[in-house]
Parts: sequence; C-alpha cells; structure tokens
Amino acid sequence: MSDRTRTSDVDVVILGAGISGSLLALLLGRQGLRVTVVEPKPAVGTKGADFLKPRGLRILAEHGLLDVLRARGALQRATIDFHHDGAPLLSYDFAEHTGLGYYLVIPYAETVRAVLGACAGLSTVDIRFDTSLVDVHTEGSMVTEAGLSDGTRLRARAFVDSSGSGTPLRDLIEPERRMISYDHGLWMTTIPSTRTRGQLYFSSERWLAYLYSVTAGSARVFVGVPSELEEAVFLRQSVDLTTKLSSFVTDEDGIAALDASAFERAPVSAFTSGPYHRGNAVLLGGSTFGCHPMTGQGMSYTMEDATVLAAVLGEARDADELDRLLGQRYEPRRAVHARLVEYGDNLARHYHDRDAYLGVHDVVLHGGDVL
Ligand SMILES: Cc1cc2nc3c(=O)[nH]c(=O)nc-3n(C[C@H](O)[C@H](O)[C@H](O)COP(=O)(O)OP(=O)(O)OC[C@H]3O[C@@H](n4cnc5c(N)ncnc54)[C@H](O)[C@@H]3O)c2cc1C
Repeated sequence: MSDRTRTSDVDVVILGAGISGSLLALLLGRQGLRVTVVEPKPAVGTKGADFLKPRGLRILAEHGLLDVLRARGALQRATIDFHHDGAPLLSYDFAEHTGLGYYLVIPYAETVRAVLGACAGLSTVDIRFDTSLVDVHTEGSMVTEAGLSDGTRLRARAFVDSSGSGTPLRDLIEPERRMISYDHGLWMTTIPSTRTRGQLYFSSERWLAYLYSVTAGSARVFVGVPSELEEAVFLRQSVDLTTKLSSFVTDEDGIAALDASAFERAPVSAFTSGPYHRGNAVLLGGSTFGCHPMTGQGMSYTMEDATVLAAVLGEARDADELDRLLGQRYEPRRAVHARLVEYGDNLARHYHDRDAYLGVHDVVLHGGDVL
C-alpha cells in the first residue's frame, strides 16, 4: 500500500494554505505537532491582501519572518494620504499613530510563500497542494477521520477549516453568518509604476480609487464604483473610467493609461459569524469573519487568531480541555472581529461624505496598534 492510501494519525488537519492555514501550520510545526495542510489549488493563491499593518507585523517579527518578507521585496511605508473630491482629507502617519511606525506592502502570495518556506524546514508539517477533502467521519460532535482526494485517510485531534469558503467542516459547525452588503463594487488591476506614497481618493458620487506600490516597479489600482455602474464601466465600457477618475483623482500618475478591460472584480462582502468551533472542528481566518478591505486589517487580525489557536492546540491534552480552551481563549476573538467589521462597515458607508468619514475614521483601529 502506498503512503497516500493508508490511514495516518496526525495532530491537526488544516484546510487551506492561505495566510491563516500556513501560519497555523508553522506555529504548530514549531511546537513539534504533526500537521497536514490540504490545499485544492496547485500552488499558492495570488488573490488576497497586500497591506501588512503593525498587529500582523509584530507577529511576523516574533516568528522571524519580517526579514524574509523584506528579502522578498516588501516595501516599507509610513503614510497613506486620503483625499475627498480632489482635496486633501487627512494624511495617516503610522509614525505618529502606531508604536511600530510603519506598514509593509507586499503581494499576498509572497507573504504566504514566506510562511510556507519556513514550514519547509519542519519535518512534522506536510503541505499537500492539488488535494481536497472528500469526506469526514464524525462521532457526536467530534470529527474522527477525513478522506482526501489523494486517497489518504487522516485521523487527527483537531480539524481546522481555514479555507475561507464552504467545506464539510463548516457545515458541521453550522455557524450563523451575519452578511453585510455594499452599494459599490471594487475592481482591481496592476500597472507599471514607481510611486512611493499610498493615495486613497473618495468622491461624493460614491467612487473611490486606491493607488499604491505593491512591488518596486508596479502599483495596485483599486477602483470602487457605485454598483449600478459596474457593468457600464468595466464590462461594456460605455462609461469612460479615465474621465470619471480624473474628476476626483489629483495624482495623474498612470490614470490616463488605465485600461478598464484589465480590471478584475474583488470581493467586498463583509460578515461576522459564530460559533468558531464545535467539538474538535475549528474555523479560522476568512472562514470566521470578513471585513471591508478599506480597513486593510483582515490579514493582520487573522494572524493574531492563528497564534491564539496554535497556543490552544499545543496546550490541550484531550478533547474536553480543547473544547474548554477554545471557549475561553479562542471564541472571544469574535468580539475583536465584530469591532473591526463594524469599523470597516462605517468606513464603507461614509467615504462619500467628507465630514461623516472624518467622524468615523479611528486612528487606533486604522493603524491597529497601541502606542
Ligand atoms: C480585495 C481585498 C483586499 C484585501 N486587502 C487586505 C489588506 O490590504 N490587508 C489585510 O490585512 N487584509 C486584506 N484583506 C483581507 C485578507 O485578504 C483576508 O483576511 C485573508 O486573506 C484571510 O486569510 P485566510 O488564509 O483565512 O483565507 P484566504 O486567504 O482566502 O485563503 C484560503 C485558502 O483556502 C483554500 N481553499 C479554498 N477552498 C478550499 C477547500 N474547500 N478546502 C481546502 N482549502 C480551500 C484557498 O485556495 C486558499 O488558499 C483583503 C481582502 C480583499 C477581498
């Protein structure tokens, strides 16, 4: 019988090699726990967050990953300039509002690769790309065994769903979701650029544009448009993107050359959910909450969650203790997430109104750190 058709015992099975699953695998592997990560894609995904703010950076630093990110080309920045209808609104200075004093910008895939690279040195961590979960066996509230598409069957003390989407594990936990929808869509492209400051533009007509360097020679451009105009701007191109942007974007770098057909839609749904676990099945990261991307904080909070969960999984000696520790230390993360989701919701509902936006903008939640 080959290795991949027998039943194996591990400590933790993790679904999804995104940032939350990868970091959890690393933290558990470093405690000597046996971990299998199951990822259906053939390689690390490219869609996700570019901004690493102080809360997340502190975790990466603690685990020796900050220098790795810098070596992979992470750009260190200290300010984000906000504008409304072409006039300056505020300039957020991380040196002024956060203890760390800066943020990093790096493509999501590079951050995940940095974490997976660190896992590669751990003999107890097995990362399987191109592999899916096909079934789970349960006894009461406990998951006892999982079958994978490569024929392997895994028994584990805990099963973590960090897939960001529906899996049999989430069905088992049956968390209630409070979905939040928005009256605008977000579209994204990448252009050649050497800009240095992050520039965020809002318009009273519910448009927004966010331009920032993501590598030394390229910038990300996010454009938010009222939902009723999305098709006309990006699919039919009957409304001219450049003309619209020129009415409120004052930094002309790259705007004239933008090609509406090169934009891809980015998800802007936000939600809170709960509970985060049942028995030994646990949800993590994008499976537990989603915040409006305007906060730039989803990944940083998720990395904190992974550290809390890694400590609980490392400490729990049996199923009862796991359930108790998850209740005491992990479930309270829901309140922390709810506050961030509410903050993102406020930003998203008020960005078109100059005074209302200034009223909801919170320097601590935005930088995500304490002085
Ligand atoms: C447009 C946009 C911009 C954002 N910008 C920022 C930002 O600047 N800063 C920030 O901090 N946060 C940002 N976020 C939020 C951030 O991307 C998420 O918080 C973060 O990606 C969550 O990580 P995750 O690992 O839980 O989920 P994901 O990153 O979604 O990873 C999930 C992984 O699970 C895999 N998977 C999918 N289905 C299955 C399955 N059935 N079984 C197993 N695996 C599966 C996926 O292929 C993927 O690899 C942004 C989000 C969006 C949508």
